[in-house]
Amino acid sequence: MVTNEYLQRVYADLQQRNSNEPEFLQAVDEVFESLQLVVPKHPEWEEAGLMERFTEPERVVMFRVPWVDDSGKVRVNRGYRVQFNSAIGPYKGGLRFHPSVNLSVIKFLGFEQILKNSLTTLPMGGGKGGSDFDPKGKSNAEVMRFCQSFMTELYRHIGQFTDTPAGDIGVGAREVGYLFGQYKKIVNRFDGGVITGKGLTYGGSLARTQATGFGICYFSDEVLHNIAHDSFEGKNVIVSGSGNVAQYCAQKCMELGGKVIAMSDSSGYIVDRNGVNLDVLFDIKQRRRARIKVYADEVPGSEYHDGCKGIWTVPCNIAMPCASQNEMDEEGAKSVIKNGAMAVFEGANMPLTPGAINAVLEAGLLYTPGKASNAGGVATSGLEMSQNSIRMSWSFDEVDAKLHTIMKEIFKSCYAASEECGQPGNMMLGANVAGFLKVADAMMAQGIV
Ligand code: NDP
Repeated sequence: MVTNEYLQRVYADLQQRNSNEPEFLQAVDEVFESLQLVVPKHPEWEEAGLMERFTEPERVVMFRVPWVDDSGKVRVNRGYRVQFNSAIGPYKGGLRFHPSVNLSVIKFLGFEQILKNSLTTLPMGGGKGGSDFDPKGKSNAEVMRFCQSFMTELYRHIGQFTDTPAGDIGVGAREVGYLFGQYKKIVNRFDGGVITGKGLTYGGSLARTQATGFGICYFSDEVLHNIAHDSFEGKNVIVSGSGNVAQYCAQKCMELGGKVIAMSDSSGYIVDRNGVNLDVLFDIKQRRRARIKVYADEVPGSEYHDGCKGIWTVPCNIAMPCASQNEMDEEGAKSVIKNGAMAVFEGANMPLTPGAINAVLEAGLLYTPGKASNAGGVATSGLEMSQNSIRMSWSFDEVDAKLHTIMKEIFKSCYAASEECGQPGNMMLGANVAGFLKVADAMMAQGIV
């Protein structure tokens, strides 16, 4: 609970002015709970209206995205770009195409991105964007026309020194390619650094595709080693979702000795006690773009269950939610705890509800917040921009080694901040405080802007 009087006042005001933005308010509340340990040491922050400015986006762009489907019918979606905070660098954050996208979701993601980008040690501010467009079930031509229409408005708000988008849910290599192509055509310039997650033939970075998932495991491995003197070796692991993040989280987890026994998509989940066969899963998801149910049809001994929440009833040692926000509620967390798990490592952004986080912390499980553990994705996007600037490309191993180093550094700074706050090992506290202090310092130095 937030008891600091200044933060309470700022939050009450936010609630009043953003009452229809529950995800955004949830994200701010969680961060304020941590920051109340440092706010009293800085009375100058209140004088400078720091928290009021920190929680108000610098700019919000909302726009119409008209496009024509394959039958010739005109469709209209809504596009968003929230440029939240540029204190430490140009806005950076992905684009999400999913029917659930609205201003609240994009603001929560943009807000989290400020702290995440700060933790990477790279000079990147926070932003996020997207649309309520659903790429699922659309033809390639429809996805292309939508992306072109989306970029026809977005291009005027972005640039390598202003704002550099990337992928997120529903925006993978195909969508990034169409978006970049349209940007290049409009501005008549090959500005590689304007968007990341590009294909390898036109400025993309090796290991960017794997980076978020690999990074989650590198970070979790640090937590296991340094806090619990343990490892992934021999652990049964649930990785929810089966998109970009989940796929490479599962791969690295297996490489580190864990056994991934369950995965999901938004329709249901599969259980394979022999360990999920990732060749089959990658083929279903990457090549065939099919539902996860197909896995159980093709792999003997595996099972499929309808509905995704049931995945948390499968007994495991480590749960890694890598699908979407609020996918594990208190009931799900209690089930994971009851079944004897030792850790919940977030892979997605805000996948645990506040009730689930409390249950996990009270039960004494290891817990890592997504903003720290999934920061490897945006960090490698930063490395992609560096390669674009110097017009060189690094090998897979070079990028992977840099990613590994960055994740270790993020662990160290989160741990140090948690120690300074008197709660060593509280990674949520450490991530929020370490991420915020750098941004706060830069905002104070730059005056009231
Ligand atoms: P993808 O679109 O590649 O995959 C999302 C996966 O989650 C799909 O399998 C999807 O199923 C599933 N899913 C969506 N909603 C639910 C739900 N409510 N319950 C169960 N499964 C669900 O997205 P990403 O893998 O890129 O992103 C996953 C998470 O990681 C998001 O929170 C994102 O913000 C975060 N993230 C991503 C980064 C990246 O580099 N891509 C970087 C940092 C964070 P279906 O196919 O049926 O929709």
